[in-house]
Amino acid sequence: MIQAVAVNKHFGDLHVLKDINLEVPRGQVVVVLGPSGSGKSTLCRALNRLEPIDSGEISIDGKPLPAEGRALAALRADVGMVFQQFNLFAHKTILDNVTLGPIKVRKVSAEEARKTAMELLDRVGIANQAEKYPAQLSGGQQQRAAIARALAMRPKVMLFDEPTSALDPEMVQEVLDTMTELADDGMTMLVVTHEMGFARRAAHRVVFMADGEIVEDATPDEFFTAPKSDRAKDFLGKIL
Ligand code: ATP
Ligand code: MG
Repeated sequence: MIQAVAVNKHFGDLHVLKDINLEVPRGQVVVVLGPSGSGKSTLCRALNRLEPIDSGEISIDGKPLPAEGRALAALRADVGMVFQQFNLFAHKTILDNVTLGPIKVRKVSAEEARKTAMELLDRVGIANQAEKYPAQLSGGQQQRAAIARALAMRPKVMLFDEPTSALDPEMVQEVLDTMTELADDGMTMLVVTHEMGFARRAAHRVVFMADGEIVEDATPDEFFTAPKSDRAKDFLGKIL
């Protein structure tokens, strides 16, 4: 579904993505772990070309992502993205936040966009917040709204970059539950997170990055019980 082949990226002298090869097949959930600065966010952003790459190829559903232009916009619409900061439009209601993309980009009618949005808000448990503005919601509710907004575009794959790390602890689980349901429904997902419970429960694979490289790519069971590299052992020793 989403594939990176020999992807390299530098920021000046810093080689942040080193020959990354990664495939997330349809229906799989891949959790990306790794120390701060290892390149996880850069990889996430590179996968839909929010971040240009120096070499290599990224494809979505078998179609290579072009570097720019209308074809990039079209393919990018198939990739939903949820960030640490919710990035909702502050001056629009939750409902408008969710309907905007489908109306503008997918050319869906306002009526249909509204119907779909209400279904999605219901699915993430905040249908009763539809007419409110983002600032009137809790962090967990805002993040669930951001997930509904991404889903409204009918993406083929969802990328999450530390979606719970800006949340108060009591709100983390509600967002993880929403993501777990999405995973159980068969959504193709790449999730950067430090939530090991989610990784164990929902991931088909764990990818461990260090210094811009993919150091391990294993099942959660293999990774958590028998990490192969010293860097992964060191990382797990610090967080578990
Ligand atoms: P964290 O766990 O802290 O979010 P990360 O694994 O997501 O870390 P990245 O944000 O991908 O790491 O950053 C990888 C490296 O690239 C870091 O050394 C970072 O300082 C550097 N970097 C990231 N974005 C830029 C940028 N726009 N310009 C220059 N350097 C950058
Ligand atoms: Mg990051």
